[in-house]
Parts: sequence; structure tokens; C-alpha cells
Amino acid sequence: MRIVLHWFRRDLRLTDNKALHAASRRAELVVPLFVLDDRLLQAPDAGAPRVAFLLDSLHALARELEGTGSRLVVRRGDPVREVLDVARAVGAEAIFVNDDYAPYGRRRDAAVRAGAAAAGLAFHGHADLVLVEPHACVKDDGTPYTVFTPFARRWRAVEKAPPVARPVLRALPDGLLRRAGGVPLPDGAGAFGLTLESRIEPGGAAQAERRLDAFVRDHVLAYRSTRDMPALDATSHLSAHLKFGTISPRTVYARVAEAIGGRALAQLDPQKPARPLDGPTTRRLAEAGTFLNELCWREFYQAILFHFPHVATSAFQEGFRGFAWPEQDERLVTAWRDGRTGFPIVDAAMRQLAQTGWMHNRLRMVVAMFLTKTLLVDYRVGERIFMQRLVDGDLAANNGGWQWSASTGTDAAPYFRIFNPLSQAKKFDPEGEFVRRWVPELRDVPASLVHEPSREPMLLASTGYPPPCVDYAERRARALALLAPRARRA
Ligand SMILES: Cc1cc2nc3c(=O)[nH]c(=O)nc-3n(C[C@H](O)[C@H](O)[C@H](O)COP(=O)(O)OP(=O)(O)OC[C@H]3O[C@@H](n4cnc5c(N)ncnc54)[C@H](O)[C@@H]3O)c2cc1C
Repeated sequence: MRIVLHWFRRDLRLTDNKALHAASRRAELVVPLFVLDDRLLQAPDAGAPRVAFLLDSLHALARELEGTGSRLVVRRGDPVREVLDVARAVGAEAIFVNDDYAPYGRRRDAAVRAGAAAAGLAFHGHADLVLVEPHACVKDDGTPYTVFTPFARRWRAVEKAPPVARPVLRALPDGLLRRAGGVPLPDGAGAFGLTLESRIEPGGAAQAERRLDAFVRDHVLAYRSTRDMPALDATSHLSAHLKFGTISPRTVYARVAEAIGGRALAQLDPQKPARPLDGPTTRRLAEAGTFLNELCWREFYQAILFHFPHVATSAFQEGFRGFAWPEQDERLVTAWRDGRTGFPIVDAAMRQLAQTGWMHNRLRMVVAMFLTKTLLVDYRVGERIFMQRLVDGDLAANNGGWQWSASTGTDAAPYFRIFNPLSQAKKFDPEGEFVRRWVPELRDVPASLVHEPSREPMLLASTGYPPPCVDYAERRARALALLAPRARRA
């Protein structure tokens, strides 16, 4: 009987899983494996929300596999050793994976591939994490894009593969499972020395489907108009699911494309001739097309990390490598992290993050610019705190977002673009609804003062909310003077 291994990593689902589908067609028996990798789970940037979501999703996957008669084999340790050991123990002829584009994952996979070759095993990588692979979205001369707009133009022109069918998996014989060995799946992040203090998004493919259904039903056709208003909570909340692959980008793309209508979707493709569309269709296209553009941003940052792995540790722009961000006062970082800066929109966002493991995209930009260009703290400090607290913490997207905000990255906001927290708050939270939700001290402050309670010192004192931790105008001027020479050298 032909036996192969499917090694799950960032693809924790059975439906629309390219490598699993291919594995099931190749052999009678597919042994599903996950390796708990302490190098990732106990790294300095590992956070309880992300680890808890991963474990929750693994439990859901294990239950789903049991429903098919199969079983998830869980090992803990060095993935290179564990994967090859399970493959040998069960007599697998091949290892199937979905490709990873991050530096650590690529090194790890190269080592497993080499070990497999030495042992006479095949190693098959599949493109599943993204709709368009990084090396398939490059300029005509083969070099990578570093600017989003032309990348997106090319990305849109590439035909997107449809979802693949859910595979039929056979029950694994007990003897084979015994040989595969394995450890019980830990219940929570405590197994890795982490304490979960937030109410996070539940993991698992069923929850991802529920999120997608609700988003397509209630929000996608108004996405462009509503996505920037944090109080409306009108975005998909699919980020952690896309990060861990409890849903595939193909499924998300296909569902949204269906909601727009295939004909309208062709309008997003600049290679195809534009055809006249009626008013409502054009509106639908603009609203949902903006959402598809966000999927493209996700893949842009995956591609940047793939082609320029140095961004994981240093600035993309040369002019900012070795730049010493001036602020060293730990108290300012603590105030930012704990939502006690005295800038209400920043504090509301940071409290949302602490309590839920998630933050609205508009506010991620606001708080990141505030830390770097108002407090003048190194973006890597914020990047790490985000990784520790976000349920969707993802090296490519997080690093891309931080370097964009700090103006050190590819296609970054120009150094002189500094989001003023007050004007951002007035524009995107005009009634102060979001601020009141997360900063209870300001619950009874009128809309005219909720974003700027320090304008009325007596009122501020009565709330117990802190005054601004820095003078915004003075800091802004300093940021411009500091960043300009670096940006010119970039
Ligand atoms: C400083 C900063 C840090 C960030 N860190 C992360 C992170 O660690 N993980 C992460 O998934 N996203 C990150 N983002 C991007 C974005 O904020 C989140 O993807 C989004 O808020 C998640 O909510 P949602 O799923 O409801 O998004 P939606 O608005 O519904 O978007 C749909 C999907 O598109 C992708 N996406 C949307 N915006 C972006 C973007 N700007 N860059 C890359 N992908 C995007 C996500 O996968 C998201 O789930 C960061 C942005 C900034 C500015």
C-alpha cells in the first residue's frame, strides 16, 4: 500500500488544501502530521494569542480528521528530525507540504528536502499560501517589484486558480499510528510558558467559514465605504485564519468574486478590455474590489519578504539601516503598550489589542506612526510588541505594516506623512464611539472633547485619564528634522 505524509504548517484545514489534495491522489494512505516547533513557539516574539489560536485550530483539525477515521499525528521538537523520523517510521514514500516563503520556513524546508532526498523520499511543495506565488509576480525582466501599484497590476492579471476539492482520507491502521508515535496536543498556550489574557478569535476551519459567510453577507458590498471606521467593525476578521490557513485565499477570493459577479471581476483585470457596466455593478465592484486589493497587499508583503529577506531584521531602505531612533525612555513605550499615552485614539486601539489580540487596520497605522514618528521609538520595538499581542501576527504583513508606517520600507509612506492622531480620530471616529468603547474613563465626555479631553484640564482631572505624554507639535517637528536626511539617502 502506498503511504505518504502530509505535513501541516500554515494550512490547518482539509478543504481547498492543495498539498493535501495532491497527497490524497498520490497514495492510498495519507499520514497527517503537525510538528510543534519550540523555536517558533518559544521565540521572543511568540505571543499567547497567536499560540492559543494555533492550538485551537489544531484541536479543530484533529477533530475533523477523526471524523474521517484519520488521525493527526503531533510531534514536538526539531521539525527536520521529527518529519524525517515519522516518514521513516510509517514507511512513507513522499512528503507533501504547502510552501512557506519566510526565511526560517525556507531554511527548514530546504533541510527537510535534503534529508528526504538522502533517504530516497520525494518532497513535494505546493503553492497554497497565496493566490500568486512571489516568483510568478515579477517584472518583465524577472526582478521583483518594490512598489505596490505595479505589483498589483501584474497580480490582478494573473489568472487565479479555483479552490480544490476536499480530499477523501482513509482511516489509518492502529499499527501504523503506533509507529508514527506522537505527543498529546497541549490544551493551551500555558504549555509554552505563555499566559493568555485576551478574548481571542476562536480557531478552526468552521469558524473561518462562519467569518467569511458573515462578511460576504453583511459587509463586502460596502467594504470600501466602511472599512476605515473602526466603530463599525466592518472588515472580515479573516487575518488569523489566513495566517494559519484555516481558510485558503482561493476560497476567500472565489466567494468575493462570486458576490461581485464574474463579469464585473474582469474589470479589475487591466489586461482585459473594459466593458460597460451598470451603476450598481460598478458600485459593487468598487466596494468589494477594494477588499480584493487587501488580499493583494497581503501577497505583496509575502513577496517582499521572499525577495528581500533582510527586511525581517533591518530597514528595507538603505538610508535607514543603522539609523538610531532617538527615544530610549522605556516609560513612553510602556505608556504606548498599555494604552496610557493620553492620546485617546491611540490608547483605545492599544487597549483593543491587549483585550482581543486584534486591532483595526486604520488604527494599526495610527499607533505605528505614533510610536515611530511621535514618540521617535525604533519601529522594531513596536513590531515585536505587535507580534507578541496579535492573534494574526505574521512576519511579512507585520513587518511590512511597520516599515510602511515608519517610512523605512518598500513603497512606504513618505517620511513627511505623519498621521495626526487627533485628525485621524475626528475623521474616522467622529462621534468618539470607538474611543468610548475601549477607554471607559472617557465614556461620559462629550463628542466635542472625547478625542482631546486635555483641552479642559478640570474635566480631564475628573476622568482619571492621563494627560498627553508628549507635546505633539514639538515631536512632529523633531521627527521631520530627523527623518528627512535619512529619507534623502534612501
Ligand atoms: C503596523 C501594522 C501591522 C500589521 N500587522 C499585521 C499582521 O501581523 N498580520 C496581518 O495579517 N496583518 C497585519 N497588518 C495588516 C492589517 O492591519 C490586517 O491584516 C487587518 O487589519 C486584519 O483585519 P481583517 O482580517 O478584518 O482585514 P480585512 O480588511 O478584512 O482584509 C482582508 C485580509 O487582507 C489582508 N490584509 C488587509 N490589509 C493588509 C495589509 N495592509 N497588509 C497585509 N495584509 C493585509 C489580511 O490577510 C486580511 O485578513 C498590519 C498593518 C499595520 C499597519
